[in-house]
Amino acid sequence: MADRPAPYLDDLNPEQRRAAETLDGPVLMLAGAGTGKTKALTTRIAHLLNTGTALPNQILAVTFTNKAAREMKDRVGRHLGGPAEGMPWMGTFHSICVKLLRRHAELIPIRAQASDDVLDEGDSAAQPAAVHLKNTFTILDTDDQIRLLKQLITAEGLDEKRWPARALAGVIDNWKNRAWTPEAVPAAESSAFNDRGVKLYAAYQRRLIELNAVDFGDLLLHVVSIFQNHEDVLAQYQRWFRYILVDEYQDTNVAQYLWLRLLAAKHRNICCVGDDDQSIYGWRGAEVGNILRFEKDFPGAAVIRLEQNYRSTPHILAAASAVIAGNKGRLGKELWTEAEEGEKVRLMGHWDGEEEARWVGEEIEDARAGRGRYRDRDNPRSETFQQELDRRAKQGLGRVTRQEFVRWAFESGTAFSDFKVQKLLKILLRDDPKAENMYKALLASPVDKYSYNEIVILVRASHQMRAFEDRFLTIGLPYRVIGGPRFYERLEIRDAMAYFRLAVSPDDSLAFERIVNTPKRGLGNVAQQKIQTTARANGVSLVEGARILLESGGIGGKGAKELRALIDGIGRWHGAVLDDRTSHIELAEVILDESGYTTHWQNDKSPDAPGRLENLKELVKALENFDNLQGFLEHVALIMDNDREEAEDKVTIMTLHGAKGLEFPAVFLPGWEDGLFPSQRSMDESGVKGLEEERRLAYVGITRAEEICTITFAANRRVYGQWQSQMPSRFVDELPEDHVEVLTAPGLYGGGYGAAAPSAAVEERASKADVYSSPGWKRMQARSQSGPSRAASMVIDAKAVSKFTAGERIFSQKFGYGTILGVENDTLDVEFDKAGAKKVKAGFVVAAER
Ligand code: ATP
Ligand code: MG
Repeated sequence: MADRPAPYLDDLNPEQRRAAETLDGPVLMLAGAGTGKTKALTTRIAHLLNTGTALPNQILAVTFTNKAAREMKDRVGRHLGGPAEGMPWMGTFHSICVKLLRRHAELIPIRAQASDDVLDEGDSAAQPAAVHLKNTFTILDTDDQIRLLKQLITAEGLDEKRWPARALAGVIDNWKNRAWTPEAVPAAESSAFNDRGVKLYAAYQRRLIELNAVDFGDLLLHVVSIFQNHEDVLAQYQRWFRYILVDEYQDTNVAQYLWLRLLAAKHRNICCVGDDDQSIYGWRGAEVGNILRFEKDFPGAAVIRLEQNYRSTPHILAAASAVIAGNKGRLGKELWTEAEEGEKVRLMGHWDGEEEARWVGEEIEDARAGRGRYRDRDNPRSETFQQELDRRAKQGLGRVTRQEFVRWAFESGTAFSDFKVQKLLKILLRDDPKAENMYKALLASPVDKYSYNEIVILVRASHQMRAFEDRFLTIGLPYRVIGGPRFYERLEIRDAMAYFRLAVSPDDSLAFERIVNTPKRGLGNVAQQKIQTTARANGVSLVEGARILLESGGIGGKGAKELRALIDGIGRWHGAVLDDRTSHIELAEVILDESGYTTHWQNDKSPDAPGRLENLKELVKALENFDNLQGFLEHVALIMDNDREEAEDKVTIMTLHGAKGLEFPAVFLPGWEDGLFPSQRSMDESGVKGLEEERRLAYVGITRAEEICTITFAANRRVYGQWQSQMPSRFVDELPEDHVEVLTAPGLYGGGYGAAAPSAAVEERASKADVYSSPGWKRMQARSQSGPSRAASMVIDAKAVSKFTAGERIFSQKFGYGTILGVENDTLDVEFDKAGAKKVKAGFVVAAER
């Protein structure tokens, strides 16, 4: 088997090869960003298959996001020269667990009920219908989860205002991340949620099974319990999955770790790759410690370290390394690259968030058209692609890597969209003589410097996205948003999905609850209560309960008629799902029609109604990618990223968290301001844990960039309608001077962009003088290599650059004029004329004019 050609191995360096070729036994690959961990991992899969060591379905590969899973499928597919026959199990922990749980749902029993059960008040005779989970279970979204918890909290006699459902959801989630079932929660946690946490958790779990539902955390928790309680089932999968691979291992939580350890116990062929510096999900229970435990749990593991970075230019790499060096708790590692020097990391300050968005929009258009700064990147060379290919052939060198190809393209003054590069690369990998012709054709065509696809904006908080979306819509710049306020989280989409859920499983009581009176059917609280009680008393689902209620005449008037119509509808739609004769797309349209939901929005006069109708259309369109409604619902329940038409050329806007593992030629990192990034919460925390996680996030952000990395910040930002004055992030200070270029734009100083001058709500914001005299701003200006800008000189005029001294008159935006009594480092003791004695930060005041 070893003598089959394995050309893909030529693309790897010796250490990567070792990771790809050490097939048996545990392997831990621990290395920094862009060192080719994922590449080595996918090559390893290809190698497993190519050498016949494993059949596709004997391989289990876990990634962190669905996007990453897709990329990995693509890469493996490419290695194998087209979509492989039968693919390995590749996906996120969650998506793989859904598959497993659907097979074994009945092994999740309902737990015995305690006598003081919060659910049994008033109808203790009721027996729950379900005794175990069924394989048709639905996956709850956060909304459903919160609604359910609210009911339980109220039933427990707690004031939901003081004891909010969201907090309980957080507590429970945390426990689930540790693989604690209600019975397993340790005594030390018993005081959680006003001493009722564990009890509510037990009630919640029971209720979920009654509803034939699971939440996100259950997917793992249930599968781990099944493995722990059913040796035969575990043994079956242990035999089955002979090779296990895990990417982004640093972000696994305890439950995931247990899951892996159980599955790998027999064959011990587990390969984990990760980077402790990129651990950014501590807040969700991830444990970097899992990396350290690996060698203990899998003694004899081959530990592989990679140090060459193939992604970024030296400047970008140096900036990232300097920032992450600020963290104490690191395993520590060096990175180097052979890439050409490239551009320094660019730093740009703005007046406010809107100006920041405007500027980024212009930069993107420049980058695309090869204007302005981006023009200098032309560097035509004579060496043709064919010559290069000849040379490689003569010298018996390996295949062309993407990196090399992009470099040639770059050297000849041409840039290609990722799509074209990929396509060409596919041909190259097959040694196709068409490659050269294609290359020439590409050279001849007027191509952009950067395609939109090659550009990403990575935000810390999703509220930052709006400014970019607004701006890009205005100037017609195509973009896609991944994550953030997701399409599938919008009200109308969730309503529509609730109808779809009922069509697939009519016993989905949470879905029923959501839409029973949407659109209005005259079924208010009283009617809904009756349905609930009837269902509870008969131990049946809400739809069934409603049917019984109707038959017994327990409900009358308009409500009865409408309820009958709804229930009949659900029955009909369900029938259509079962007999499978209507296409699911048609069915979806029928459902939205017959339920009156579409009409409901058509009749709505509010300004957002047309948008909602559009979204509904888009929802139906999204169904085209799926075979049936159930598959679609599952997908939506699982997606962590919103993946529409990746092929279109669009700028990507996403969160830093979502960008893990990805790479882009040009990266914009906006909003580097204290309180935003690092987040206020991480700054308020005692200790450095939160701050270190934020710093790792900064490291992840910078290391996504291949060629151009631009960091920006603004002096004023509107957060949820409130203007706030911002200070440049402490991470800006940590950027190494030698690798950073501080940009200045005319707009900032009232030059070029006349209209950019702040207009609205000016009085609410900090004055420019306040900002320019702030230490962060001064530091930034002091670094600018383009000489003192107008802003800097203005600051000097205002005398804010030199230290204040006692006796001096100053002005503060907040307190007005005052006299300095004393100075201590950055803090001034001031007697304000109107406001009296105050301590203020020097950065917030300016010297008063004399
Ligand atoms: P991250 O920590 O961000 O997930 P990573 O270590 O997984 O990064 P990859 O995404 O696998 O890194 O690789 C980064 C880039 O370097 C990719 O474009 C990949 O194709 C390229 N690359 C990796 N190894 C090599 C190699 N030996 N030769 C040329 N290019 C390589
Ligand atoms: Mg990776």
